[in-house]
Amino acid sequence: LSAEAQAVVDKIEAENVDFLRLQFTDILGTVKNVSIPASQAEKAFTEGIYFDGSSIDGFVRIQESDMRLEPDASTFEILPWRKTEESAAGRLICDVFNTSTGEPFSGDPRGVLKDALERAADLGYDVNAAPEPEFFLFQEDEDGRATTKTNDAGGYFDMAPKDLASDVRRDIIFGLESMGFDIEASHHEVAEGQHEINFTYDDALATADNVATFRSVVRAIAAEHDLHATFMPKPIAKINGSGMHTHISLFKDGENAFHDDDDEFDLSETAKQFVAGILEHAPAVTAVCDPTVNSYKRLVPGYEAPVYVAWSDRNRSALIRKPAARTPAASRIEARFPDPSCNPYLAFAALIHAGLDGIEKGLECPEPVRENIYEFDEAKREEYGIDVLPGNLGEAIDALEEDEVIQDALGEHVYEKFVEAKRSEYDDYRVAVSQWELDRYLEKY
Ligand code: GLU
Ligand code: MG
Ligand code: MG
Repeated sequence: LSAEAQAVVDKIEAENVDFLRLQFTDILGTVKNVSIPASQAEKAFTEGIYFDGSSIDGFVRIQESDMRLEPDASTFEILPWRKTEESAAGRLICDVFNTSTGEPFSGDPRGVLKDALERAADLGYDVNAAPEPEFFLFQEDEDGRATTKTNDAGGYFDMAPKDLASDVRRDIIFGLESMGFDIEASHHEVAEGQHEINFTYDDALATADNVATFRSVVRAIAAEHDLHATFMPKPIAKINGSGMHTHISLFKDGENAFHDDDDEFDLSETAKQFVAGILEHAPAVTAVCDPTVNSYKRLVPGYEAPVYVAWSDRNRSALIRKPAARTPAASRIEARFPDPSCNPYLAFAALIHAGLDGIEKGLECPEPVRENIYEFDEAKREEYGIDVLPGNLGEAIDALEEDEVIQDALGEHVYEKFVEAKRSEYDDYRVAVSQWELDRYLEKY
C-alpha cells in the first residue's frame, strides 16, 4: 500500500468505520456509490473493486459491462451524517477503469477532466477553480415530497430572525467542514429560500470532487431538517434562479499566469486569450455547463444570469466577469453561465479546453462591455458584435454538434452518450403539454 492508502486504512480502524462508499459520477453528474465493508479497504486499494457498469447511465453496452473502481486515497472522508461513537461510514472518490483493456474508462467524467488538466500541464499550466453553487431550501409536504414552498422570506445577506434557514445552513457548514471543506462565506441569496455557500479554490480536479460532495452533503443535512435542498437551476419562475459561477485561474511555475499589473483590468494576455476561447466556444460549452431543459429558464434577462456572449469587468449580465482581486494571486475570471445541475467534471473540462483553445490559437479578446446588456436592443447588440446564448437545450445541443473542440474535450464516448441523453430529454420536453399552456389556452380556444 502507498503511504496515503495506509493512512486511510489506519483511520478506518481508528474511527470505527464499518462501511465505505466508493463514489463516482455518471455522465449526467449523478453521484453513484458502491458500498463495501471496511474490511475490504486494503483490497480496494491494491486490486480495485469490480462492478457491473451496464446499469450506470451512459456507461457501457451490456456485453462489455465489467468495470473496476480504483479509489483515490486523497479523497477519503467520513460522512458526518452517518457518524456515531461506535460506527461511521467513509467515502472514497474513485477513478473508473475498463477491465478488458486495463485503461482508464473513456466514459468516466473524472477521467475527462484529468485529460483536460493534462493538456493544460503540457502547456505548463496548473488550473485552479472555485465554484459558487447556489441552491434553494424548500419545505416537504406530509408525504416527505419536495414542494416549492420556501421556509423563509429572507433576501440578499439578510440576518436572522428573517433568515430562518441560518440554522440549517450552519449545520450544513459544520458538516462540510468536518469533511475537509474550507468555507469562505455563506449567505442568503437574492431570492426567497435561496442560499450560497462558498469554499476555497483548489486545483480543478479537487474542486470538481468537492462540488459532487457538496451537493450530497447539502441535500443530506437539509433532509435532517425536513427540508429539500435543490440545485435545480430555476425552480420558481420570475425570481432569480441558481447559478454555479465558476472562478478559474491558470498558474505557471507557481505564479498566477492570469495576472498582469500593467493591464487596465490586471489581466494578462494569457487570461484574455483564455476568455476569448470561452467566448468563441460559448454556445457548445453551454450545452455542458447548463445541461437541463430547466437551465434555459434561468438564462433569461433580468435575473443576474447571463444571456449574452460578452465579458465585463463589472457587469453581472455578461457571460464572463473579471472580479476584483485583492492580490495578484487572486486574479481570475468568473464564468457566470454554469448552473449547479451540471456535471462539474465535464463542465470544468469544457471550460478549460475552450480557454486553452483561445491560448493556443492566440484568439483576440473583445473589449469588455460595461453597460447593462439586458437593456440592449438587437441593433445595439449587433453594433457591439454580441451573440446570444442558446435559447433552449435543443439549440445548445445543436451548437455542441457544430463544435469539434468541445466534442474532443468530452471525448467520443461521453460526447455521444451525452448528446443521445440530452436529445431525448429535449424531445420529451418538446412534446409535453405544460400547465402554462393549459392556463393560457384551455378556456380561450
Ligand atoms: N442567482 C444568479 C444566477 O442565476 C447569480 C446571483 C449572483 O450574482 O450571485 O446566476
Ligand atoms: Mg451568488
Ligand atoms: Mg459570483
